[in-house]
Amino acid sequence: MRDDILHLFYPCVCPGCGSQLYADAEGICPECISAFDAFGDADASGYAIMELFRRNYPDDTLSGKAWALYRFHKNDRLQRVIHAMKYEGVSSLGKVFGRFLGEMIAGCGGDDLYSCVVPVPLHRLKVFDRTYNQSEIIARSVASVLRKDFRNDLVVRKKYTRSQAGLSLQERLRNVRDAFEPSGRAVPKSILLVDDVLTTGATVSAVKNALESEGAEHISLATIALAG
Ligand SMILES: [Zn+2]
Repeated sequence: MRDDILHLFYPCVCPGCGSQLYADAEGICPECISAFDAFGDADASGYAIMELFRRNYPDDTLSGKAWALYRFHKNDRLQRVIHAMKYEGVSSLGKVFGRFLGEMIAGCGGDDLYSCVVPVPLHRLKVFDRTYNQSEIIARSVASVLRKDFRNDLVVRKKYTRSQAGLSLQERLRNVRDAFEPSGRAVPKSILLVDDVLTTGATVSAVKNALESEGAEHISLATIALAG
Protein backbone atom coordinates (compact mmCIF):
# COMPACT_ATOMS: atom_id res chain seq x y z
CA MET A 1 0.00 0.00 0.00
CA ARG A 2 1.33 3.45 -0.82
CA ASP A 3 2.61 5.46 2.13
CA ASP A 4 0.24 8.37 1.47
CA ILE A 5 -2.72 6.01 1.59
CA LEU A 6 -1.34 4.32 4.72
CA HIS A 7 -1.22 7.69 6.42
CA LEU A 8 -4.97 8.03 6.00
CA PHE A 9 -5.35 5.08 8.35
CA TYR A 10 -2.37 5.43 10.67
CA PRO A 11 -1.22 8.54 12.50
CA CYS A 12 1.80 10.07 10.82
CA VAL A 13 4.51 9.56 13.44
CA CYS A 14 8.29 9.53 13.28
CA PRO A 15 9.54 5.92 13.49
CA GLY A 16 12.67 7.09 15.34
CA CYS A 17 11.03 8.84 18.32
CA GLY A 18 7.26 8.48 17.97
CA SER A 19 6.59 12.23 17.72
CA GLN A 20 3.93 13.47 15.34
CA LEU A 21 5.20 14.51 11.91
CA TYR A 22 4.35 17.64 9.99
CA ALA A 23 3.31 17.30 6.38
CA ASP A 24 6.74 18.28 5.02
CA ALA A 25 8.77 15.94 7.29
CA GLU A 26 9.20 13.15 4.67
CA GLY A 27 8.59 10.32 7.12
CA ILE A 28 11.18 11.29 9.72
CA CYS A 29 11.55 14.23 12.10
CA PRO A 30 14.48 16.71 11.96
CA GLU A 31 15.44 15.95 15.60
CA CYS A 32 16.02 12.29 14.72
CA ILE A 33 18.05 13.18 11.63
CA SER A 34 20.33 15.38 13.69
CA ALA A 35 20.58 12.72 16.45
CA PHE A 36 21.98 10.08 14.06
CA ASP A 37 25.71 9.38 14.45
CA ALA A 38 26.80 10.93 11.14
CA PHE A 39 30.31 10.54 9.76
CA GLY A 40 32.20 13.82 9.98
CA ASP A 41 32.95 13.78 6.29
CA ALA A 42 32.60 11.51 3.27
CA ASP A 43 36.27 10.51 3.26
CA ALA A 44 36.10 9.36 6.89
CA SER A 45 33.17 7.09 6.04
CA GLY A 46 35.02 5.66 3.02
CA TYR A 47 38.09 5.00 5.12
CA ALA A 48 36.02 3.12 7.74
CA ILE A 49 34.42 0.91 5.06
CA MET A 50 37.74 0.18 3.35
CA GLU A 51 39.15 -0.75 6.75
CA LEU A 52 36.27 -3.19 7.32
CA PHE A 53 36.96 -4.85 3.96
CA ARG A 54 40.71 -5.03 4.59
CA ARG A 55 40.00 -6.68 7.94
CA ASN A 56 37.38 -9.19 6.75
CA TYR A 57 38.54 -9.84 3.17
CA PRO A 58 42.27 -9.12 2.92
CA ASP A 59 42.39 -10.68 -0.57
CA ASP A 60 39.19 -9.15 -1.86
CA THR A 61 39.18 -5.41 -1.24
CA LEU A 62 36.97 -2.82 -2.92
CA SER A 63 38.40 -1.47 -6.16
CA GLY A 64 36.45 1.81 -6.12
CA LYS A 65 35.43 4.29 -3.42
CA ALA A 66 32.99 3.88 -0.51
CA TRP A 67 30.53 6.06 1.38
CA ALA A 68 28.27 5.70 4.44
CA LEU A 69 26.00 8.31 5.98
CA TYR A 70 25.95 7.09 9.60
CA ARG A 71 27.44 4.75 12.16
CA PHE A 72 24.92 2.12 13.20
CA HIS A 73 24.37 1.42 16.93
CA LYS A 74 22.06 -1.15 18.49
CA ASN A 75 18.80 0.20 19.94
CA ASP A 76 19.24 3.79 18.83
CA ARG A 77 16.89 5.93 16.75
CA LEU A 78 18.55 5.03 13.47
CA GLN A 79 18.02 1.32 14.10
CA ARG A 80 14.30 1.94 14.72
CA VAL A 81 14.03 4.03 11.55
CA ILE A 82 15.85 1.44 9.41
CA HIS A 83 13.65 -1.30 10.86
CA ALA A 84 10.56 0.69 9.86
CA MET A 85 12.01 1.19 6.39
CA LYS A 86 12.74 -2.52 5.89
CA TYR A 87 9.92 -4.32 7.63
CA GLU A 88 7.07 -1.94 8.40
CA GLY A 89 6.27 -0.69 4.94
CA VAL A 90 7.68 2.83 5.31
CA SER A 91 9.42 2.65 1.96
CA SER A 92 9.51 6.45 1.51
CA LEU A 93 12.35 6.56 4.07
CA GLY A 94 14.57 4.79 1.53
CA LYS A 95 13.98 7.67 -0.86
CA VAL A 96 15.03 10.22 1.76
CA PHE A 97 18.20 8.32 2.76
CA GLY A 98 19.01 7.73 -0.91
CA ARG A 99 18.83 11.46 -1.55
CA PHE A 100 21.16 12.19 1.41
CA LEU A 101 23.56 9.53 0.16
CA GLY A 102 23.44 10.83 -3.43
CA GLU A 103 24.14 14.38 -2.24
CA MET A 104 27.09 13.16 -0.14
CA ILE A 105 28.59 11.31 -3.13
CA ALA A 106 27.90 14.19 -5.55
CA GLY A 107 29.78 16.51 -3.18
CA CYS A 108 32.91 14.35 -3.60
CA GLY A 109 33.17 14.73 -7.38
CA GLY A 110 34.66 11.69 -9.16
CA ASP A 111 31.66 11.29 -11.43
CA ASP A 112 33.60 9.00 -13.74
CA LEU A 113 34.14 6.43 -10.96
CA TYR A 114 30.87 4.68 -11.81
CA SER A 115 28.54 4.56 -14.80
CA CYS A 116 25.49 3.04 -13.12
CA VAL A 117 23.90 2.41 -9.71
CA VAL A 118 23.07 -1.19 -8.71
CA PRO A 119 21.10 -2.26 -5.60
CA VAL A 120 21.85 -5.46 -3.67
CA PRO A 121 19.07 -7.73 -4.94
CA LEU A 122 16.52 -9.29 -2.63
CA HIS A 123 15.19 -12.78 -3.38
CA ARG A 124 11.88 -12.50 -5.28
CA LEU A 125 10.04 -14.33 -2.46
CA LYS A 126 11.26 -11.73 0.03
CA VAL A 127 10.18 -8.92 -2.32
CA PHE A 128 6.78 -10.62 -2.49
CA ASP A 129 6.70 -10.79 1.30
CA ARG A 130 7.74 -7.18 1.96
CA THR A 131 6.34 -5.81 -1.35
CA TYR A 132 9.54 -3.86 -2.05
CA ASN A 133 13.33 -4.09 -1.88
CA GLN A 134 14.57 -1.24 0.32
CA SER A 135 18.04 -1.24 -1.29
CA GLU A 136 16.36 -0.72 -4.65
CA ILE A 137 14.44 2.31 -3.39
CA ILE A 138 17.65 3.79 -1.92
CA ALA A 139 19.59 3.05 -5.13
CA ARG A 140 16.93 4.62 -7.37
CA SER A 141 17.09 7.79 -5.31
CA VAL A 142 20.94 7.82 -5.40
CA ALA A 143 20.87 7.30 -9.19
CA SER A 144 18.43 10.15 -9.65
CA VAL A 145 20.59 12.62 -7.64
CA LEU A 146 23.76 11.52 -9.48
CA ARG A 147 21.98 11.34 -12.86
CA LYS A 148 23.28 7.84 -13.51
CA ASP A 149 21.53 4.73 -14.86
CA PHE A 150 19.73 2.61 -12.30
CA ARG A 151 20.35 -1.09 -13.05
CA ASN A 152 18.55 -3.86 -11.17
CA ASP A 153 18.89 -6.36 -14.02
CA LEU A 154 22.57 -7.31 -13.71
CA VAL A 155 22.59 -9.72 -10.75
CA VAL A 156 19.99 -12.24 -9.60
CA ARG A 157 19.59 -13.56 -6.06
CA LYS A 158 19.02 -17.25 -6.68
CA LYS A 159 19.18 -18.55 -3.10
CA TYR A 160 16.59 -17.71 -0.47
CA THR A 161 19.01 -17.01 2.38
CA ARG A 162 18.09 -16.79 6.03
CA SER A 163 18.47 -13.40 7.72
CA GLN A 164 22.08 -12.38 8.39
CA ALA A 165 21.21 -10.80 11.74
CA GLY A 166 23.02 -12.42 14.66
CA LEU A 167 25.37 -14.51 12.47
CA SER A 168 29.17 -14.48 12.73
CA LEU A 169 31.35 -13.46 9.79
CA GLN A 170 32.00 -17.09 8.83
CA GLU A 171 28.30 -17.98 9.10
CA ARG A 172 27.36 -14.94 7.01
CA LEU A 173 29.86 -15.91 4.33
CA ARG A 174 28.46 -19.45 4.23
CA ASN A 175 24.94 -18.07 4.13
CA VAL A 176 25.48 -15.88 1.05
CA ARG A 177 28.06 -17.99 -0.80
CA ASP A 178 26.71 -18.63 -4.30
CA ALA A 179 23.53 -16.73 -3.43
CA PHE A 180 24.00 -14.34 -6.37
CA GLU A 181 24.65 -14.93 -10.04
CA PRO A 182 25.03 -12.65 -13.06
CA SER A 183 21.87 -12.29 -15.12
CA GLY A 184 23.74 -12.69 -18.40
CA ARG A 185 23.39 -9.03 -19.44
CA ALA A 186 26.51 -7.04 -20.31
CA VAL A 187 27.98 -5.61 -17.09
CA PRO A 188 29.46 -2.06 -17.17
CA LYS A 189 33.09 -1.72 -16.05
CA SER A 190 32.43 0.74 -13.22
CA ILE A 191 29.53 0.32 -10.81
CA LEU A 192 28.20 1.97 -7.66
CA LEU A 193 26.69 -0.78 -5.50
CA VAL A 194 24.06 0.22 -2.90
CA ASP A 195 23.04 -1.62 0.28
CA ASP A 196 21.04 -0.43 3.29
CA VAL A 197 23.28 -1.44 6.23
CA LEU A 198 26.83 -2.77 6.04
CA THR A 199 27.74 -5.18 8.85
CA THR A 200 30.46 -7.64 7.81
CA GLY A 201 30.25 -6.90 4.08
CA ALA A 202 29.53 -10.59 3.29
CA THR A 203 26.49 -9.86 1.12
CA VAL A 204 28.11 -6.96 -0.72
CA SER A 205 31.23 -9.05 -1.29
CA ALA A 206 29.15 -11.86 -2.85
CA VAL A 207 27.36 -9.41 -5.20
CA LYS A 208 30.69 -7.78 -6.05
CA ASN A 209 32.15 -11.17 -7.01
CA ALA A 210 29.17 -11.90 -9.28
CA LEU A 211 29.62 -8.54 -11.05
CA GLU A 212 33.39 -8.95 -11.34
CA SER A 213 32.98 -12.41 -12.86
CA GLU A 214 31.20 -10.66 -15.75
CA GLY A 215 33.81 -7.96 -16.31
CA ALA A 216 33.16 -5.20 -13.72
CA GLU A 217 36.53 -3.65 -12.82
CA HIS A 218 35.76 -0.79 -10.46
CA ILE A 219 33.10 -1.32 -7.83
CA SER A 220 32.29 1.46 -5.39
CA LEU A 221 29.91 1.07 -2.47
CA ALA A 222 27.34 3.31 -0.81
CA THR A 223 25.35 2.46 2.30
CA ILE A 224 23.15 4.28 4.79
CA ALA A 225 24.85 2.89 7.85
CA LEU A 226 28.03 1.09 8.80
CA ALA A 227 27.62 -1.37 11.66
CA GLY A 228 30.94 -3.19 11.48
ZN1 LIG B 1 11.94 11.50 15.36
